[in-house]
Amino acid sequence: MSDQQHSPSPTEAVEVTRAKIAYVLPVYNEGDNIAVFHGALIAATLPRADVDFEFVYVDDGSRDASLEKLLELRQADSRVTVLSFSRNYGHQIAVTAGLDAATDADAVIIMDTDLQDPPSVSIEMISMWEDGVDVVYAQRRSRQDSLFKRATAYLFYWVLDRLASIEIPRNVGDFRLMDRKVALEVARYREHGRFLRGIVSHVGFRQEALLFDRDPRHAGETGYPLRKMIAFAANGILGFSTAPLRWISRLGFFISAVSILLAVYVLWVRLFMPQQAVPGWAFLGVGMFLLSGLQLIMMGVIGSYLGRVYVETQDRPLYSLALSARGERVGVTASR
Ligand code: UDP
Ligand code: MG
Repeated sequence: MSDQQHSPSPTEAVEVTRAKIAYVLPVYNEGDNIAVFHGALIAATLPRADVDFEFVYVDDGSRDASLEKLLELRQADSRVTVLSFSRNYGHQIAVTAGLDAATDADAVIIMDTDLQDPPSVSIEMISMWEDGVDVVYAQRRSRQDSLFKRATAYLFYWVLDRLASIEIPRNVGDFRLMDRKVALEVARYREHGRFLRGIVSHVGFRQEALLFDRDPRHAGETGYPLRKMIAFAANGILGFSTAPLRWISRLGFFISAVSILLAVYVLWVRLFMPQQAVPGWAFLGVGMFLLSGLQLIMMGVIGSYLGRVYVETQDRPLYSLALSARGERVGVTASR
C-alpha cells in the first residue's frame, strides 16, 4: 500500500537544513539573574524560529540557588541542558565543558549569564555567521566597569600585545560565536591553564569583530575577584609567550657587558696611570658582574630548553585545516 511507504513530508525536508545553534552559558552564583537572563534570551531568539536552539548552562559549583533555578528552567523548556560541576573550577573550564557538550551544534555562542552580554547582540552574530564569518567576537565599544577594572584590563592587553606569539584582539571577552569547525578545533586544545580567547585566535579561520556596548551586571557580584583575574592574566601571558624566559639571558648579557666595561677601566688605570692604584670597588666589580652575568646567561640557556618543554607539554595541534585533502571545506553544514 502506498500510504505505508515512507516518503519525507515537506516539513521533514525543511528540517534537514535547519541550523542548530547552542548557547554555552557559564553560571556561578547567578541565582538572582538566571530567570531574567533566560527570559531575555528566549525573547531575543524568538524571531529566529527557523533555527533550533539549545541552551547549555554550566553551573560552576555555585553556592546559591543557581542550580535549582537552572533545573526549573530545564523542567519548563526541553531545549535547556544543565551541567553541574562538583566544585568551582572557574569560568574558562565551565565554558570548555559547555563546548564539549555542544559538539553537534552547527555554531556555538558563548555568553555570560549576568546580562552584561546583551542577547540581542548574539542574534546579530548569527546573521554574520550566515554570511560566512567563522568566528564573530563581540568587541566592547563601551563598558560600565569600574576605573580599576578598566585600567588593569588596559595594562593586561598592552603587555599581552607585546609578548604574545599571536594577535589577540583588544577589548574582547569570551562573548562570541564560533562555527562548528572552529569549536571542534578549540576542543583539541586541552591545556589546563586555559585562555580561551587566545586559543580561538590561535585556531585561525575567518574572524570578525562585532561592536557592542557592554551593560553593567544585572544583579549579584562579580565572580572574578582580583585573585582570579591575576591567575587569568597569567594564563594569557604565560600560555602564549615564552618571552620572559628569553629575557633572563638578555639580562645576563647586559650584566656581562657591564663587567667588560669595568675590566677595561681597571686595565686602563693599571697601564696608563702608574701613579694611581686600581680602585678596589672596580676590581671586585669586574668579578661580581662577570659571575652574575654568566650565571644569568646559563639560566637563560636552561630557560630556553624549559620553554621548549613547556610548549611540547601544551601539546597543541600543529595546524588546523580549512580545506580537507579532497579539497572540501571542513565542517560546512547545509544550513549556510
Ligand atoms: N563564572 C563562572 N565561574 C567563575 C566565575 C564566573 O562560571 O568562577 C561565570 C559567571 O556566572 C558569568 C561569567 O562567568 O556568567 C562571567 O563572570 P563575571 O560576570 O563574574 O565576570 P566579570 O563580568 O565581572 O568579568
Ligand atoms: Mg560579568
